[in-house]
Amino acid sequence: MALLEGQNLTKKFGGIVAINDVSFSVERGEAIGLIGPNGAGKSTLFRTVTGVHEPTEGRVFFDDEEITGKAPHEICHRGLAKTHQIVRPFESMTLLENVAVGAEFGGREFDDVRERAREMLEFVDLADIQYSDPGELSVGQLKRLEIARVLATDPEIVLFDEVAGGLDPEETEDIVDLIGDIKDEGKTVFLIDHVMRALMTVSERVMVLNNGSLIAEGTPDEIQNNNEVIEAYLGE
Ligand code: ADP
Ligand code: MG
Repeated sequence: MALLEGQNLTKKFGGIVAINDVSFSVERGEAIGLIGPNGAGKSTLFRTVTGVHEPTEGRVFFDDEEITGKAPHEICHRGLAKTHQIVRPFESMTLLENVAVGAEFGGREFDDVRERAREMLEFVDLADIQYSDPGELSVGQLKRLEIARVLATDPEIVLFDEVAGGLDPEETEDIVDLIGDIKDEGKTVFLIDHVMRALMTVSERVMVLNNGSLIAEGTPDEIQNNNEVIEAYLGE
């Protein structure tokens, strides 16, 4: 069975159908992209999978078990973690303490928490400023802090919601390299991007959402040449 599977997921907010009968699966070790115009339902799909929203209809399976309707912290404990589109670290804590919270949450023993946090800060290249406050960070550094925090929970799959959003080309390239490293470490990655650019290079397979529905799925090449996809973006 796939590592993560959504079956006929629909999420309505009042009269708005944010996602409409979406089915997908993510295999272990895969890097998969989710793209679509603004308001397509991408973030809602991720929030429905991670337990922030309960689906109006449909079911979610992770690691051979149904997780529909489970609480976000329980889903995270099982190994399904998500970065936030808007990064909000604890401002009164150092970078190390922020990441330690993730490690503690992930079930690390007390003695191990700081060590794990330090390792993750090294992995995202922030170890030399581990005692700084988040308020001193650039947007790119904040995104890397968020990645360190999520990795510290020991996830099996990481969902990235527009992790390259708002970054300049150089910062974007750093993040893309970092996601490549995360995949090389054996993790499964599921990435949202608004535009068809950087994350297409990391993704082996891409799904396209438009108006809440999946309209295409294929290799990055197939997707970039798909007329329905191009039209969805032109209509934006
Ligand atoms: P995307 O991430 O693809 O830009 P979203 O998933 O954020 O799209 O939004 C999809 C649709 O659902 C939009 O019309 C948005 O306004 C609506 N929506 C998202 N979250 C909520 C919410 N919590 N309450 C009401 N409407 C929402
Ligand atoms: Mg979004």
